[in-house]
Amino acid sequence: TTGGAGTTIQVLEGSETGFATTRFDALLNWARKYSLFQYPFITACCAMEFMAMASPRFDMARFGAEAPRFSPRQADLLWVVGTISQRQAPALKRIYEQMADPKYVFAFGTCASCGGFYDNYTTLAGIDKVVPVDVYVPGCPPRPEAVIDGLLLLQDKIARGDRTPAIVKPRRDPI
Ligand code: SF4
Repeated sequence: TTGGAGTTIQVLEGSETGFATTRFDALLNWARKYSLFQYPFITACCAMEFMAMASPRFDMARFGAEAPRFSPRQADLLWVVGTISQRQAPALKRIYEQMADPKYVFAFGTCASCGGFYDNYTTLAGIDKVVPVDVYVPGCPPRPEAVIDGLLLLQDKIARGDRTPAIVKPRRDPI
C-alpha cells in the first residue's frame, strides 16, 4: 500500500492484525497500575479532601483506583488519611500485614507523613514508623490536585517497579 507523502508501506502477509512484544513483568505492572484496590484507613480531617477526591469533580475513577475494599486481604493500596495515634499504630501495622503482595502505601496529608503539628507523646510522628510508605502527599490537608499528582506518581512507580519512597510537592492554592 502507499502511505502519505509518497511513502510506501509494505504489509506482510499474515500481519494485518498487528502485534507487539513486551516483557511479562512490564505487562503485569501495567495492569497493576490501572487496577488499584484501595483500603481507606481514615482517622481525621483529611477525610474531607479524600471525599473530594472520590467525588465526580476530581473523579478518582479515572485512574482505576476508585474501588474501596473494606477487607485488607482484598486490597493492594493502603490510603492512610489523617492523624495516627500511638494506640492506632499496631492496628495499622496489622492491616498492612494482612494485605497481599504487592501492596502500596499512600501517606495522605502532613499528619500521616510526619505527625504534623501534633508534636506530642500520643501521636505517631509519621506512619513510616510502622509501615513502609511509597508516596507522601504533604499538606494540611493536601488539595485533591496534589493527591492526584501522588496517585499518578504511584502509578508511574508501579510501572517502573520502583519501590523507593517519593514525595509530592504541595500545590499552591489557585489564584
Ligand atoms: Fe487534619 Fe491537617 Fe492532619 Fe490532615 S494534615 S488530618 S487536615 S490536621
